[in-house]
Amino acid sequence: MHELSIVMSIVDTVEKERGKQQADAVESIELDIGMISGVEMDAFYFAWDAGVSKTILENTKLKINRPPAKAKCTACGHSFAATSSFDACPECGNPFCDIISGKELRIKRMIVIKN
Ligand SMILES: [Zn+2]
Repeated sequence: MHELSIVMSIVDTVEKERGKQQADAVESIELDIGMISGVEMDAFYFAWDAGVSKTILENTKLKINRPPAKAKCTACGHSFAATSSFDACPECGNPFCDIISGKELRIKRMIVIKN
């Protein structure tokens, strides 16, 4: 499952960061998962519960932000709300637009506990 491998890589990243910061536990973690990141949220929550069991994140509070999809036209510079990575510009019809948000998949912030 794609989502489980995402969760495992988050656990991995957090473990490394915890080592660096010499923290004992992680109180909360905040993730950005863009609307067109390709992550299926039901599957993600399911994978989260399974994946963090017996890890540093087992009792960590999870917060998820869903940045909306936005694109910018490479021809006319118009910015617009996108529904996929392949939307054409609604102003000029140019099919080559840059996605400027909505594909995020990252740890935005985590709060650690140190004794
Ligand atoms: Zn355009």
